[in-house]
Amino acid sequence: MRIDKLLANSGFGSRKEVKKLLKTGAVKINGTTVKDPQTHLDPERDQVTVHGETVEYKEFIYLMMNKPQGVISSTEDDYDETVIDLLEMEDKILNPFPVGRLDKDTVGLLLLTNDGQLAHQLLSPKKHVPKTYYAKISGIVTNDDIEAFKRGVTLDDGYVTKPAELVILSINEAENKSEIELTITEGKFHQVKRMFAAVGKKVTFLMRIKMGSLMLDESLKPGEYRELSEEEISVLK
Ligand code: URA
Repeated sequence: MRIDKLLANSGFGSRKEVKKLLKTGAVKINGTTVKDPQTHLDPERDQVTVHGETVEYKEFIYLMMNKPQGVISSTEDDYDETVIDLLEMEDKILNPFPVGRLDKDTVGLLLLTNDGQLAHQLLSPKKHVPKTYYAKISGIVTNDDIEAFKRGVTLDDGYVTKPAELVILSINEAENKSEIELTITEGKFHQVKRMFAAVGKKVTFLMRIKMGSLMLDESLKPGEYRELSEEEISVLK
């Protein structure tokens, strides 16, 4: 890797700013001053210092966000705020992107990373990574719905869903509403909402609480995020 790229990725500014920094003689690789931005190094083995301080280089970033309502889970949008807009400047440097999508009105667990291989593994239809949602439903969810979701329901476009596990958390007959948890192993567009529509019910609140082995950290308020721990990253892989 080139020294200018490593420094830019580590938060020392744009390539242009990094070039200026190098010119001042502030940067050393293994104790030797380097001024040429094209100098190559091995980030795993070489020690880089700026003004004598060691630069801890990382290639990948893994963030868990509690996505709030009203925010789009993509990297750019012409009209609405995106989950990337919610990140601190220093966390944007490595260009994380959301792993999969949640609807604008869906809240909860969203993983953001620049590790394309991990994102691919988690999203690949072949891997059947389970995703668990908590939802409030308008209507009374029944044991028949549990059975139907286990067998697979036919969505509005004719697609038959893979077996899904529905758990009823509470039923409120008087107010005609229910609370449930649903685990699905695929990620069709608006899947949870369309599955309930297929059994004549409406999702009024949707929150993702788990993806693979990763649980939403309950201490994160909507819009907050944190880095994953080493252990969380290793069990995801
Ligand atoms: N299913 C939905 O309907 N919406 C989401 O955001 C996620 C799953």
